[in-house]
Amino acid sequence: FDTPPIPQVGPTGCADDAIRPERLSEFIGQNDLRANLSVYLQAARERGRALDHTLFYGNPGLGKTTLCRIMAAEMGVNMVSTSGPVLERTGDLAAILTNLGRHDILFVDEIHRMPASVEEVLYPAMEDFRIDLIIGQGPGARSVKIDLEPFTLVGATTRIGLLTSPLRDRFGVIFRLDFYGHDELALIVERAARITGARVTREGAMAIGRRARGTPRIAGRLLRRVRDFALVQGAEVIDEAVAVAALDRMDVDPHGLDQMDRAILGVLIEQFQGGPVGVKTLAVALSEEVRTIEEIYEPYLIQCGFMKRTPRGRVATAKAYTHLKII
Ligand code: ADP
Repeated sequence: FDTPPIPQVGPTGCADDAIRPERLSEFIGQNDLRANLSVYLQAARERGRALDHTLFYGNPGLGKTTLCRIMAAEMGVNMVSTSGPVLERTGDLAAILTNLGRHDILFVDEIHRMPASVEEVLYPAMEDFRIDLIIGQGPGARSVKIDLEPFTLVGATTRIGLLTSPLRDRFGVIFRLDFYGHDELALIVERAARITGARVTREGAMAIGRRARGTPRIAGRLLRRVRDFALVQGAEVIDEAVAVAALDRMDVDPHGLDQMDRAILGVLIEQFQGGPVGVKTLAVALSEEVRTIEEIYEPYLIQCGFMKRTPRGRVATAKAYTHLKII
């Protein structure tokens, strides 16, 4: 299979793209997912068929977009990207679908935010590679069927619970991405350093990995900021001392909690006696959006055992009291 060369910096040119793994063999962590995906890729290639529709779910920055790009590269097909909120009208989706080439991949980020009317166009597209469009209005309206090339829909979501079941059921493969371990994050930091020409020791990479909230995107961001501190200090190599000093200055604590995480726990403990308190009330007290708390902060606080979700609301754990030194 000939695959087109992939530019080092992708179409958006953002810092994330420069360090994005391009092949499955370069992707670090998520071992079970990687092993299964490699089987599905090989099987689809051997059969000469499009990959099954695939859904990735997990926190932001864990590698959903990266995996989709890897799928396209490994299959030697084009990938077209869009996102749920951008697809406002059925015509937007129809235009994209009819332009897809044979076996191409359509990536829909935040697929849970797609309007219901647009979602309905997707059902026959996913099942039978066909769309039914209503053209015109009133008595003159007629329905036309348009055949599509076989394609693969790859959806990404941070909230699988918000997907309707008809949509979820139409995915042949559903993968969950977990938070990464410290060792894996250190490997990701070392790889990113190699690509961007930074020198980092194993201990320096571990120090960054430990504070990256289990998330490769954050590991990449912390490395970039630590490099800034190293440059200004005249440190040629990022070792543990350089990394820790920089991370402390950025107010990222040894568990990877930042100011906002500590504010959430602080408010929960001091204003609400440790909970239980509803997320909406918590959001108002912090002047933050409910979605941001639910999707960005809370999953990691829960994963680290600082917070619990109960039917009556959020509760701070004993570990949170100890961490914030509130007794
Ligand atoms: P998501 O789509 O889940 O929000 P991305 O795929 O955009 O996350 O990944 C965010 C950043 O983290 C990218 O720069 C990507 O290169 C990097 N990244 C994610 N997963 C890995 C991984 N397993 N190995 C190396 N880098 C990764």
